[in-house]
Amino acid sequence: MRLSVVGCSGSLPGPDSPASCYLLEAPGVDEQGRPRTWRVVLDLGNGSLGALQRLVDPASVDAVLLSHLHPDHCLDLCGLYVLLRHRPGPPRPDRIPVWGPAGTADRMARAYDLEPAPGMHAEFAFETYVDREPFAVGPFSITPVRVEHPVETYGLRVEHQGAVLAYTGDTDTCAALTPLCQGADLMLADSSFVDGRDHDAGIHLSGRRAAQTAVDAGGVRRLVLTHLPPWNDPQVCLEQARAVWEGPLDLAGPGSTYDL
Ligand SMILES: [Zn+2]
Ligand SMILES: [Zn+2]
Repeated sequence: MRLSVVGCSGSLPGPDSPASCYLLEAPGVDEQGRPRTWRVVLDLGNGSLGALQRLVDPASVDAVLLSHLHPDHCLDLCGLYVLLRHRPGPPRPDRIPVWGPAGTADRMARAYDLEPAPGMHAEFAFETYVDREPFAVGPFSITPVRVEHPVETYGLRVEHQGAVLAYTGDTDTCAALTPLCQGADLMLADSSFVDGRDHDAGIHLSGRRAAQTAVDAGGVRRLVLTHLPPWNDPQVCLEQARAVWEGPLDLAGPGSTYDL
């Protein structure tokens, strides 16, 4: 599967990147057994729907997977709703599955100032995560894992033909990160905080804590730091991670791709 970073700015869009959004693409087959590409979007944070259009027609994605309902992870679902509802031409024949925490449908309706019924139910088929219960989207197997953040938040472990992507969502260090990240070919880790500067517990990882998580989980092949807010010095985050992680290490950048 191919991971494309659409947006990786933490907590709000930055001058060079939208907020969180990642596109995953993989080969599979359609209902008639003919080959086709499957696409899922992990998070749709503010600003990301614009950049996503450079890569794919957003109306064509097979599912949207929201880690949680903070605006930097979900708010551009409002834009996708507008696109599906009002773009001229034949409408998409089915609804796009949108997976998220409990209350996602009502929360997104409020975000667009809609009544809860019909809300966005004509455009999206809302599904609610069950902690550690896998589900499939085409050839992808996805396991949501509840992590440590002030609101209900899930990391997402995505598997395709033996390759594993572990996306932490927003989280502080917690025991759930081990089953989420163990053996991942690529761990895409929240690294918002800077050690020595940010002291609040239960919200975000730092570069060093992300790296320690990768070490503790075991078997992680590549660590990619993401969700850096615009006020961070990315080099400081890298150095703090490098202090405990000897393997391949990158900063997520908008437009960068990884083949797993
Ligand atoms: Zn966030
Ligand atoms: Zn958050």
